Amino acid sequence: MDLGIGGRWALVCAASKGLGKGCAAALVREGVHVVVTARGAQALEATATELRRLHPAVEVRAVVGDITTEAGRAAALAACPRVDILVNNAGGPPPGDFRDWDRAAWIGALEANMLTPIELIRATVDAMAERGFGRVVNITSSAVKAPIDFLGLSNGARSGLTGFVAGTARQSRLAARGVTINNLLPGAFDTDRLRGAFAGAAAKSGQPAEALAEARRKTVPAQRFGTPDEFGACCAWLCSVQAGYITGQNLLIDGGAFPGTF
Ligand code: NAD
Repeated sequence: MDLGIGGRWALVCAASKGLGKGCAAALVREGVHVVVTARGAQALEATATELRRLHPAVEVRAVVGDITTEAGRAAALAACPRVDILVNNAGGPPPGDFRDWDRAAWIGALEANMLTPIELIRATVDAMAERGFGRVVNITSSAVKAPIDFLGLSNGARSGLTGFVAGTARQSRLAARGVTINNLLPGAFDTDRLRGAFAGAAAKSGQPAEALAEARRKTVPAQRFGTPDEFGACCAWLCSVQAGYITGQNLLIDGGAFPGTF
Protein backbone atom coordinates (compact mmCIF):
# COMPACT_ATOMS: atom_id res chain seq x y z
CA MET A 1 0.00 0.00 0.00
CA ASP A 2 1.34 3.44 -0.90
CA LEU A 3 0.86 5.52 2.24
CA GLY A 4 0.82 8.73 0.23
CA ILE A 5 3.43 10.55 2.34
CA GLY A 6 6.51 10.34 0.11
CA GLY A 7 8.31 13.70 0.00
CA ARG A 8 6.90 14.86 3.35
CA TRP A 9 9.22 15.96 6.19
CA ALA A 10 9.13 14.28 9.60
CA LEU A 11 10.73 15.18 12.91
CA VAL A 12 11.30 11.97 14.85
CA CYS A 13 12.50 12.66 18.39
CA ALA A 14 14.77 10.34 20.38
CA ALA A 15 15.40 8.11 17.41
CA SER A 16 18.93 6.71 17.54
CA LYS A 17 17.61 3.45 19.01
CA GLY A 18 14.51 1.48 19.85
CA LEU A 19 10.98 2.57 19.01
CA GLY A 20 11.95 6.03 17.72
CA LYS A 21 14.43 4.48 15.31
CA GLY A 22 11.77 1.98 14.20
CA CYS A 23 9.42 4.87 13.40
CA ALA A 24 12.11 6.78 11.51
CA ALA A 25 13.02 3.69 9.46
CA ALA A 26 9.40 3.01 8.50
CA LEU A 27 8.89 6.62 7.43
CA VAL A 28 12.10 6.65 5.40
CA ARG A 29 10.98 3.46 3.63
CA GLU A 30 7.88 5.44 2.59
CA GLY A 31 10.05 8.16 1.07
CA VAL A 32 9.64 10.62 3.96
CA HIS A 33 12.59 12.95 4.68
CA VAL A 34 13.47 12.79 8.37
CA VAL A 35 15.20 14.78 11.07
CA VAL A 36 16.24 12.37 13.81
CA THR A 37 17.45 13.43 17.25
CA ALA A 38 19.25 11.87 20.20
CA ARG A 39 21.71 12.95 22.87
CA GLY A 40 24.64 10.73 21.87
CA ALA A 41 26.35 11.75 18.60
CA GLN A 42 27.93 8.38 17.84
CA ALA A 43 24.79 6.23 17.99
CA LEU A 44 22.78 8.92 16.19
CA GLU A 45 25.25 9.17 13.30
CA ALA A 46 25.32 5.37 12.95
CA THR A 47 21.52 5.34 12.80
CA ALA A 48 21.42 8.19 10.28
CA THR A 49 23.81 6.22 8.05
CA GLU A 50 21.58 3.13 8.29
CA LEU A 51 18.49 5.19 7.49
CA ARG A 52 20.12 6.75 4.41
CA ARG A 53 20.74 3.27 3.02
CA LEU A 54 17.01 2.45 3.20
CA HIS A 55 15.97 4.91 0.51
CA PRO A 56 18.30 6.60 -1.97
CA ALA A 57 16.09 9.63 -2.56
CA VAL A 58 15.42 10.47 1.07
CA GLU A 59 17.21 13.14 3.08
CA VAL A 60 18.15 12.21 6.64
CA ARG A 61 19.35 14.91 9.02
CA ALA A 62 20.75 14.09 12.46
CA VAL A 63 20.52 16.61 15.29
CA VAL A 64 22.37 15.92 18.52
CA GLY A 65 20.63 17.30 21.59
CA ASP A 66 18.41 16.70 24.56
CA ILE A 67 14.84 17.01 23.29
CA THR A 68 13.61 17.76 26.81
CA THR A 69 15.45 21.10 26.76
CA GLU A 70 14.42 24.27 24.97
CA ALA A 71 17.75 24.34 23.10
CA GLY A 72 17.34 20.71 22.02
CA ARG A 73 13.85 21.35 20.69
CA ALA A 74 14.89 24.57 18.91
CA ALA A 75 17.78 22.78 17.16
CA ALA A 76 15.52 19.92 16.06
CA LEU A 77 12.87 22.28 14.70
CA ALA A 78 15.46 24.45 12.95
CA ALA A 79 16.82 21.43 11.06
CA CYS A 80 13.42 20.51 9.60
CA PRO A 81 12.38 22.64 6.60
CA ARG A 82 8.75 22.03 7.59
CA VAL A 83 7.27 19.54 10.01
CA ASP A 84 4.52 17.58 8.24
CA ILE A 85 4.89 14.66 10.64
CA LEU A 86 5.93 14.89 14.28
CA VAL A 87 6.82 11.76 16.24
CA ASN A 88 7.18 12.67 19.90
CA ASN A 89 9.43 10.43 21.96
CA ALA A 90 11.94 10.64 24.82
CA GLY A 91 13.42 8.30 27.36
CA GLY A 92 11.00 6.96 29.96
CA PRO A 93 11.26 7.96 33.62
CA PRO A 94 12.95 5.61 36.11
CA PRO A 95 10.97 3.04 38.13
CA GLY A 96 10.65 3.32 41.90
CA ASP A 97 8.44 4.09 44.86
CA PHE A 98 6.58 7.40 44.91
CA ARG A 99 7.75 7.94 48.50
CA ASP A 100 11.26 8.44 47.16
CA TRP A 101 10.35 10.94 44.43
CA ASP A 102 10.78 14.59 45.26
CA ARG A 103 9.49 17.54 43.25
CA ALA A 104 12.58 17.51 41.00
CA ALA A 105 11.89 13.89 40.01
CA TRP A 106 8.33 14.79 39.06
CA ILE A 107 9.39 17.88 37.13
CA GLY A 108 11.89 15.74 35.19
CA ALA A 109 9.21 13.22 34.23
CA LEU A 110 6.74 15.95 33.30
CA GLU A 111 9.38 17.73 31.17
CA ALA A 112 10.26 14.57 29.24
CA ASN A 113 6.94 12.79 28.86
CA MET A 114 4.34 15.55 28.94
CA LEU A 115 5.65 19.09 28.43
CA THR A 116 8.19 18.36 25.67
CA PRO A 117 5.62 16.76 23.36
CA ILE A 118 3.16 19.57 24.16
CA GLU A 119 5.79 22.21 23.33
CA LEU A 120 6.56 20.51 20.01
CA ILE A 121 2.87 20.19 19.19
CA ARG A 122 2.44 23.89 19.97
CA ALA A 123 5.36 24.75 17.69
CA THR A 124 4.11 22.77 14.70
CA VAL A 125 0.38 22.05 14.42
CA ASP A 126 -0.95 25.45 13.36
CA ALA A 127 1.45 25.53 10.41
CA MET A 128 0.38 21.97 9.55
CA ALA A 129 -3.24 23.14 9.56
CA GLU A 130 -2.41 26.06 7.27
CA ARG A 131 -0.86 23.61 4.80
CA GLY A 132 -3.84 21.25 5.15
CA PHE A 133 -1.89 18.19 6.28
CA GLY A 134 -0.26 17.11 9.51
CA ARG A 135 0.32 14.02 11.61
CA VAL A 136 1.40 13.90 15.23
CA VAL A 137 2.16 10.56 16.83
CA ASN A 138 3.12 10.48 20.50
CA ILE A 139 4.92 7.41 21.79
CA THR A 140 3.43 6.89 25.25
CA SER A 141 2.97 3.55 27.03
CA SER A 142 0.48 0.80 27.74
CA ALA A 143 0.85 2.08 31.33
CA VAL A 144 -1.56 4.87 30.37
CA LYS A 145 -4.31 2.23 30.05
CA ALA A 146 -3.07 -0.29 32.61
CA PRO A 147 -0.87 1.52 35.16
CA ILE A 148 2.21 -0.22 36.50
CA ASP A 149 2.67 0.54 40.21
CA PHE A 150 6.45 1.04 40.18
CA LEU A 151 6.25 3.31 37.09
CA GLY A 152 4.29 6.05 38.84
CA LEU A 153 6.28 8.85 37.18
CA SER A 154 5.44 7.42 33.78
CA ASN A 155 1.78 6.72 34.66
CA GLY A 156 1.33 10.28 35.87
CA ALA A 157 3.24 12.26 33.25
CA ARG A 158 1.95 10.30 30.27
CA SER A 159 -1.64 10.45 31.49
CA GLY A 160 -1.29 14.23 31.52
CA LEU A 161 -0.19 14.19 27.88
CA THR A 162 -3.01 11.80 27.00
CA GLY A 163 -5.61 14.13 28.48
CA PHE A 164 -4.13 17.10 26.64
CA VAL A 165 -4.15 15.23 23.33
CA ALA A 166 -7.74 14.06 23.81
CA GLY A 167 -8.94 17.65 23.90
CA THR A 168 -6.54 19.28 21.46
CA ALA A 169 -6.90 16.70 18.69
CA ARG A 170 -10.61 17.47 18.60
CA GLN A 171 -10.23 21.19 17.94
CA SER A 172 -11.89 21.83 14.57
CA ARG A 173 -9.12 24.24 13.60
CA LEU A 174 -6.86 21.17 13.54
CA ALA A 175 -9.15 18.19 12.85
CA ALA A 176 -10.99 19.91 10.00
CA ARG A 177 -7.72 20.95 8.37
CA GLY A 178 -6.08 17.60 7.89
CA VAL A 179 -4.17 17.45 11.19
CA THR A 180 -4.44 14.32 13.30
CA ILE A 181 -2.91 13.73 16.74
CA ASN A 182 -2.78 10.20 18.12
CA ASN A 183 -0.91 8.21 20.74
CA LEU A 184 0.79 4.86 20.26
CA LEU A 185 0.90 2.78 23.45
CA PRO A 186 3.69 0.19 23.41
CA GLY A 187 3.47 -2.90 25.57
CA ALA A 188 6.72 -4.86 25.84
CA PHE A 189 9.14 -4.21 22.97
CA ASP A 190 12.58 -5.67 22.54
CA THR A 191 14.69 -2.53 22.95
CA ASP A 192 17.60 -1.36 25.10
CA ARG A 193 15.10 0.05 27.58
CA LEU A 194 13.38 -3.30 28.15
CA ARG A 195 16.69 -5.17 28.24
CA GLY A 196 18.00 -2.60 30.74
CA ALA A 197 14.94 -3.14 32.93
CA PHE A 198 15.59 -6.90 33.04
CA ALA A 199 19.28 -6.31 33.80
CA GLY A 200 18.30 -4.00 36.67
CA ALA A 201 15.78 -6.48 38.07
CA ALA A 202 18.34 -9.28 37.71
CA ALA A 203 20.92 -7.33 39.70
CA LYS A 204 18.37 -6.79 42.49
CA SER A 205 16.87 -10.28 42.60
CA GLY A 206 19.93 -12.39 41.77
CA GLN A 207 17.96 -14.19 39.03
CA PRO A 208 19.36 -14.31 35.48
CA ALA A 209 18.05 -11.52 33.23
CA GLU A 210 17.09 -14.05 30.54
CA ALA A 211 14.93 -15.99 33.02
CA LEU A 212 13.12 -12.78 33.95
CA ALA A 213 12.66 -11.92 30.27
CA GLU A 214 11.27 -15.39 29.55
CA ALA A 215 8.81 -15.14 32.44
CA ARG A 216 7.59 -11.79 31.08
CA ARG A 217 7.32 -13.13 27.53
CA LYS A 218 4.98 -15.83 28.82
CA THR A 219 2.61 -13.18 30.19
CA VAL A 220 2.06 -11.81 26.67
CA PRO A 221 -0.58 -13.70 24.64
CA ALA A 222 1.69 -13.40 21.57
CA GLN A 223 4.39 -15.13 23.69
CA ARG A 224 7.03 -12.72 22.48
CA PHE A 225 8.11 -9.10 22.66
CA GLY A 226 7.30 -6.69 19.86
CA THR A 227 9.96 -5.41 17.48
CA PRO A 228 10.81 -1.76 16.69
CA ASP A 229 10.06 -2.52 13.02
CA GLU A 230 6.50 -3.61 13.86
CA PHE A 231 6.05 -0.51 15.97
CA GLY A 232 7.44 1.73 13.24
CA ALA A 233 5.11 0.23 10.63
CA CYS A 234 2.09 1.13 12.80
CA CYS A 235 3.45 4.64 13.23
CA ALA A 236 3.97 5.10 9.48
CA TRP A 237 0.44 3.88 8.82
CA LEU A 238 -1.02 6.35 11.35
CA CYS A 239 0.87 9.04 9.43
CA SER A 240 -0.58 7.89 6.12
CA VAL A 241 -3.12 9.67 3.97
CA GLN A 242 -5.42 6.68 4.51
CA ALA A 243 -5.46 7.25 8.30
CA GLY A 244 -6.69 10.84 7.93
CA TYR A 245 -10.00 10.18 9.74
CA ILE A 246 -8.33 8.82 12.88
CA THR A 247 -7.60 11.43 15.53
CA GLY A 248 -7.47 11.70 19.31
CA GLN A 249 -7.01 7.94 19.64
CA ASN A 250 -4.85 5.70 21.81
CA LEU A 251 -3.65 2.62 19.96
CA LEU A 252 -2.28 -0.22 22.09
CA ILE A 253 0.41 -2.33 20.46
CA ASP A 254 1.06 -5.03 23.02
CA GLY A 255 0.65 -8.54 21.57
CA GLY A 256 -2.69 -8.85 23.41
CA ALA A 257 -1.28 -8.16 26.87
CA PHE A 258 -4.04 -5.74 27.95
CA PRO A 259 -6.92 -8.01 28.96
CA GLY A 260 -9.88 -5.66 28.35
CA THR A 261 -12.60 -5.88 25.68
CA PHE A 262 -11.82 -2.30 24.60
P1 NAD B 1 15.42 2.99 24.11
O1 NAD B 1 16.16 3.22 25.38
O2 NAD B 1 15.64 1.74 23.37
O3 NAD B 1 15.66 4.20 23.12
C1 NAD B 1 15.45 5.52 23.56
C2 NAD B 1 15.98 6.49 22.50
O4 NAD B 1 15.67 7.80 22.96
C3 NAD B 1 17.47 6.44 22.29
O5 NAD B 1 17.74 6.73 20.94
C4 NAD B 1 17.96 7.59 23.18
O6 NAD B 1 19.20 8.11 22.73
C5 NAD B 1 16.86 8.58 22.98
N1 NAD B 1 16.68 9.55 24.05
C6 NAD B 1 16.36 9.27 25.35
N2 NAD B 1 16.21 10.41 26.03
C7 NAD B 1 16.40 11.44 25.15
C8 NAD B 1 16.38 12.84 25.25
N3 NAD B 1 16.12 13.44 26.42
N4 NAD B 1 16.64 13.58 24.15
C9 NAD B 1 16.89 12.98 22.97
N5 NAD B 1 16.93 11.64 22.81
C10 NAD B 1 16.69 10.89 23.89
O7 NAD B 1 13.87 3.14 24.55
P2 NAD B 1 12.56 2.58 23.81
O8 NAD B 1 12.28 1.22 24.36
O9 NAD B 1 12.65 2.81 22.37
O10 NAD B 1 11.44 3.52 24.47
C11 NAD B 1 10.97 4.71 23.87
C12 NAD B 1 9.86 5.26 24.74
O11 NAD B 1 8.81 4.30 24.83
C13 NAD B 1 10.31 5.52 26.20
O12 NAD B 1 9.68 6.67 26.69
C14 NAD B 1 9.84 4.29 26.92
O13 NAD B 1 9.62 4.52 28.29
C15 NAD B 1 8.54 4.01 26.18
N6 NAD B 1 8.11 2.62 26.33
C16 NAD B 1 8.89 1.59 25.91
C17 NAD B 1 8.43 0.28 26.10
C18 NAD B 1 9.27 -0.91 25.65
O14 NAD B 1 8.89 -2.04 25.94
N7 NAD B 1 10.38 -0.74 24.99
C19 NAD B 1 7.19 0.04 26.70
C20 NAD B 1 6.41 1.12 27.10
C21 NAD B 1 6.88 2.41 26.92
